[in-house]
Amino acid sequence: MKPFNEKIYVTRPILPDLDKVREEMEDIWETGMLTNFSDKHNELESKVKNYLKVDHLALFNNGTTALMIAIKALDIKGEVIVTPFTFPATLHALDWNNLKPVFCDVEKDSLNIDPERIEGLINDKTSAILAVHIFGNPCDHEKISRIAKKYDLRVIYDAAHAFGVEVDGKSIGNLGDVSMFSFHATKLFHTIEGGAVTTQDKSLAKKVKILRNFGIDEPEKIVMPGINGKLNELQSVVGLVNFELLSKEIKRRKEIHGLYCDYLKGVDGVDIYSINANVKKNYQYFVIRINEKMFGRSRKDVLEVFTKYNVFPSKYFFPICSEFKHYKKEKSAKRKYLLNSYNASMEVLALPFYGKLKNEEVKKICDILKSVKK
Ligand SMILES: *Cc1c(COP(=O)(O)O)cnc(C)c1O
Repeated sequence: MKPFNEKIYVTRPILPDLDKVREEMEDIWETGMLTNFSDKHNELESKVKNYLKVDHLALFNNGTTALMIAIKALDIKGEVIVTPFTFPATLHALDWNNLKPVFCDVEKDSLNIDPERIEGLINDKTSAILAVHIFGNPCDHEKISRIAKKYDLRVIYDAAHAFGVEVDGKSIGNLGDVSMFSFHATKLFHTIEGGAVTTQDKSLAKKVKILRNFGIDEPEKIVMPGINGKLNELQSVVGLVNFELLSKEIKRRKEIHGLYCDYLKGVDGVDIYSINANVKKNYQYFVIRINEKMFGRSRKDVLEVFTKYNVFPSKYFFPICSEFKHYKKEKSAKRKYLLNSYNASMEVLALPFYGKLKNEEVKKICDILKSVKK
């Protein structure tokens, strides 16, 4: 096999048709409104709100600000129980709100926070649970909500991987007290950089929107210490045009998902990450785990060979957040309490996955992987 001529990355963003972007941009040039909740922003906000089937939605300039503000709006103190198997932003959003993270291990297969371990971490300082729907696989929201009710805790979902996902016919954005989405270029739906907060709570939604705009409620009435979380008009246009391409992108990714599953079926030591049956999936990632014992080679070996062939899959999430310098001093961060998370961080590999990936490229990626096996 020859290496790919061009680099094959783990993802490629949806790229909208330039003429369509230009057409929409002309409206902006006519009005001169570049930002501050103008037409394009408001159109996108209502489109995304309808798509996600949520009661309230606020767009943001990125997912991290969205999460920081969602948490700020809840006005909580003390400790928050959180998964270490996530992107750094999940943890940092707590730190920026002066909240102490308490790490809770994930379930072995779903890699979502393990509800069975949450209660043991609760004390009188605990104020919330921050869970992540990893790889678009919904957390066990029923168990989490039962625990939250029992101990009067808030529930925050990082839904950065779960745009459009539904579970038991319910929108993912309606779970818990508040959810955050990311519209970064590497995510399924994107506005280059961007994000959103969703909630079913009307007064919380109002607070989120005020915090997004420097704490300004009405002109000359500044009611809280907000920051700048605004999504501008140009990026909103990119969102609007990308939005039209979304269903086609998902359809194509579903095909590619099927091809990967066919080619990798029965390969000992390659476990395909799977999502529960009651879920409407969004196909944001295609994830495998390399079981070194069964596969005969480590993930490191696999990555080295892929690099030779010009393929760049991605480790997720390595290292886990509990091992970062800033968090490893926490008592709950000890590796022995977080073995499912740690093991996943050593084995998980997200394979190249995007609509423009060709069938023969998918096959070759699988052939390369199989060629590494001992
Ligand atoms: C992408 C991502 C974020 C951060 O979102 P940005 O829009 O890049 O700020 C947070 N959490 C998770 C799980 C993510 O994947």
